[in-house]
Amino acid sequence: MKPGPFDYAAPTSLREALRLLSDTERDVKVLAGGQSLIPMLNMRLARPELVVDITRVAELGRMSVDADGALHIGAAVRQAAVAADPAVRGGWPLLAAAIEQIGHPQIRNRGTVCGSLVHHDPAAELPAVAVALDARFTVTGPGGTRTVPSEDFFLSTFAADVEPDELLTEVVFPAPAPGTGWSFLELVQRRGDFAGVGVAVLVRRSDEVVGEARIVFCGVGSTPVRTPEAEQALVGRAFNSVTVEAAVLAVRGAVDPPGDVHASAQWRREGAEVLLRRALKQAWESCA
Ligand SMILES: Cc1cc2nc3c(=O)[nH]c(=O)nc-3n(C[C@H](O)[C@H](O)[C@H](O)COP(=O)(O)OP(=O)(O)OC[C@H]3O[C@@H](n4cnc5c(N)ncnc54)[C@H](O)[C@@H]3O)c2cc1C
Repeated sequence: MKPGPFDYAAPTSLREALRLLSDTERDVKVLAGGQSLIPMLNMRLARPELVVDITRVAELGRMSVDADGALHIGAAVRQAAVAADPAVRGGWPLLAAAIEQIGHPQIRNRGTVCGSLVHHDPAAELPAVAVALDARFTVTGPGGTRTVPSEDFFLSTFAADVEPDELLTEVVFPAPAPGTGWSFLELVQRRGDFAGVGVAVLVRRSDEVVGEARIVFCGVGSTPVRTPEAEQALVGRAFNSVTVEAAVLAVRGAVDPPGDVHASAQWRREGAEVLLRRALKQAWESCA
């Protein structure tokens, strides 16, 4: 299939990109990696009059670690570049591991981290990882720049807190506390598929008990699903099969996944429990 006609602009400055997006007379769409937008254009699920390609805006192509140790990823930074970066692999291994489970190398070579977050497919890996890592989103528009915490950014299926005249200019991942263990696991029908169900787990060991835990699922709701009940079942307790089963039981009560053409609700519910058991063990064992 072929897309409907549209105008194309490739600005080289953020200011120009924002000016193009502020055209309220036309339906304008941002193009980042194009790995979701181009299929939508081809299937005519999106019919913008103007496509604004942001990949030539140099200031959006940067990735850095700031003085507080937080990782900044600009809107045009590709998923593959993030996953391959030594600083990311050392400091945010959960992020690198989750990216490696996105689609195939060709997709990750073009797709951007920010594009995946704005697109917000509920089965996508990165929104759950962003919530697990307590990311902050920098959104820039005609009114200036605002910062959105991860718990407010994902609104519902394919909807995030970015207006049509705004850009997600960067996502910021604070440094996990030293000694934090991690795991990202997903169940897929075929390698490279979106997660049928997935889980991001962070666990911090404090002496012989769990000091902190963060558990976030993808594929089980219209937004990433954090399960504080399961986290509380672990915190302050020794890590053993009894506490793990208490967390699994808490997830059973908290997660109510949908069924669809890809998987039944029961497959997702049982999958969430199986993944959580495995991910908690991996995360605990990886605590430094
Ligand atoms: C075969 C295939 C398999 C895939 N498998 C997976 C998978 O397993 N897991 C997964 O998570 N994803 C998967 N994807 C999607 C992939 O991760 C996309 O790269 C991602 O969803 C969108 O990122 P992008 O940079 O390509 O964005 P684009 O496709 O360019 O844009 C997506 C949407 O976000 C908007 N947008 C993009 N960036 C910004 C921004 N900075 N500010 C405001 N709006 C913006 C666009 O206007 C558009 O509406 C797959 C894609 C394909 C084609």
